Amino acid sequence: MKIAILHVVRLFIVLFLSISSKHNPDSITIIAGGDINLVSKRPDYIKTNSLNDNYYFKHITPVLKRGKIRFCNFEQTVTDRTYKPRPWPGKAYVFMGPGRHLDIVTKSGFNVINIANNHIMDYGTAGLKHTINALNKREILWFGAGMNEKQARKALIVHFKGKRIAFLGYIMRFHPNFHANRYRAGCPSYMNHNQGRAYIYQNEITENTEFNFSKDINRIKQFADMIIISIHFGPEYYTKPSNYQIKTARAAIDAGADLVLGHHPHVIQKIERYKGKIICYSLGNLVFPSYFTDPYVMLLEFKIGPDMKIYSTRIHPFVVKNRHDFNLCMDDYVMFMPVPAKGRWLKGFSYMLKQRGTNAYEQNGIFYLK
Ligand SMILES: [Zn+2]
Repeated sequence: MKIAILHVVRLFIVLFLSISSKHNPDSITIIAGGDINLVSKRPDYIKTNSLNDNYYFKHITPVLKRGKIRFCNFEQTVTDRTYKPRPWPGKAYVFMGPGRHLDIVTKSGFNVINIANNHIMDYGTAGLKHTINALNKREILWFGAGMNEKQARKALIVHFKGKRIAFLGYIMRFHPNFHANRYRAGCPSYMNHNQGRAYIYQNEITENTEFNFSKDINRIKQFADMIIISIHFGPEYYTKPSNYQIKTARAAIDAGADLVLGHHPHVIQKIERYKGKIICYSLGNLVFPSYFTDPYVMLLEFKIGPDMKIYSTRIHPFVVKNRHDFNLCMDDYVMFMPVPAKGRWLKGFSYMLKQRGTNAYEQNGIFYLK
């Protein structure tokens, strides 16, 4: 019951934020970053190298300061209790950290947190409850999961400069029981699973697919001036979006979304314009204990005009050293700390964007979507 009340309260939370844009005082800036997971061997690394807890975000925070609404995908559970609930039986990777991890993320500057992903149920319903309690205790704005489907599909509406920006979060099919239903906690699925068993076991999209976000967008559009859909989808480490990602993301725009923020593949995928709106298929990792060799990380900066249209999309390029034994040319870099891409890395980033299908030009170390 307490959670339900907090959800209602969250709908009307107003961010009292000052006007800071020199160029267009009426513009709103939203920054979006990818996956964050602070559970790993890294705490030892912090200790042995006497780094502070927030070190990963050293170069991220100055960019976050450019916007007032700062989104990320928080891909782990947390608890403020001394005991951990039982992990999901048989799940290969399960992540639970102390509530302090949320303090690190918010101290770094993030203020809108997506929890619709394939790790929020790592410790079952109890783990989700612990995480939601920790988020609410800190008065963090979050969305994307709940104790039942109704709660999970509730939008987070951020009020800012007299405008209402709505966030809705969904996941693709990972495990059928990660999906919230009337009786079960979890995340919203992006599609309606009552269409037959076959749909439960694949992410295939047909002309008959019913998307849950279509209903949700219809439900909330009179309460929102802009709708952002966050979707956790796509095969891991694929640098190009799959057909079902493309169909799903475009369906979200067709249904009335203004911006789609995708995540899960752990690598950056293309950013495209579609019907005057923006789709980012995968934001990639931001801070994640992944020992994958792809060193590219980014933050996106969206400028929104008084008409609530995105008039500028900037890509802030970073590189990160993910492995001790690889990326030897990154010897000076601190493990897992994204640093702005410069010189050869900037060139590499530019090549990567192009290769993966993003049409952008670079100016003074920042990329601008064409
Ligand atoms: Zn994921």
